[in-house]
Amino acid sequence: MQQVSENVYVETYTRGCNHGFVTTSQGVVLIDTPQIPLDAVRWRHEIMKHGEPLYIINTEPHLDHVMGNFYFPGASVISQQGVRERMDDGFPTLQELRERISQADPDSLWLLHGYAPHPPEITFSSGMTLRVGEQMFHLMHLPGHTPMEVCVYIPGERVVFTGDNVFHRVQTFLHEAEPEAWLESLKRIGELDVDVIVPGHGEVCDKGYLEEQAAVIHDWLGAVREAKGKGLTLEEAAKGLGLKKEYPMGQGLQGMEDWLREMNVNNLWQKV
Ligand SMILES: [Zn+2]
Repeated sequence: MQQVSENVYVETYTRGCNHGFVTTSQGVVLIDTPQIPLDAVRWRHEIMKHGEPLYIINTEPHLDHVMGNFYFPGASVISQQGVRERMDDGFPTLQELRERISQADPDSLWLLHGYAPHPPEITFSSGMTLRVGEQMFHLMHLPGHTPMEVCVYIPGERVVFTGDNVFHRVQTFLHEAEPEAWLESLKRIGELDVDVIVPGHGEVCDKGYLEEQAAVIHDWLGAVREAKGKGLTLEEAAKGLGLKKEYPMGQGLQGMEDWLREMNVNNLWQKV
């Protein structure tokens, strides 16, 4: 765990997405939750040293961001309404979760006993402001990596959690991206008065990286456009696309390279 400002703590080295929490005089606000059950219960113990977990803000509906909500039963979950809809429609069954966790961390299997998804109870459309103690949280709907992506700007700490709109020096997942909206969202993030960016994956960074993140998206768009221009089929493009930025896969995502290339091309093929 890393302290990135006076009251903000983040973990970037566990399997799944980055997650963090903000301490206030009233209690603790979490941003996303650990996917692996053992990481989630350990995270809870860490948080309890700082106060009661009051709210969880989910930045998106992907399992690595929302699965751990279950381990914080007393906290209210907040997100963009699309996250709620996605969790209501398409959450994996307990059997599917068991299979995934038995691959990822068999020691965590026993903690799936009684598991149920914990979707957002509080939702918003374009944005909301949450005040807890002396802290203010601006929850901004900034579509990009998913259509329902949320950034959490904490002006008092000069920190923003971008969710997966930023993959810092690890491979970018564009499998359900809205690329044009994503580029706009990166500009909006760039206008925030912050010193620290907590990305969805990869290590903590600052606004200096945003230009490079935009370049990665342009690079993917360019490569798919070029493949289409050459008359390649979707299948050929999905196999052969070479990219300039050869970053490693993020934590716990090794072995997904081929799937990622195929899914990114599949999605962008419809958008260029
Ligand atoms: Zn994601």
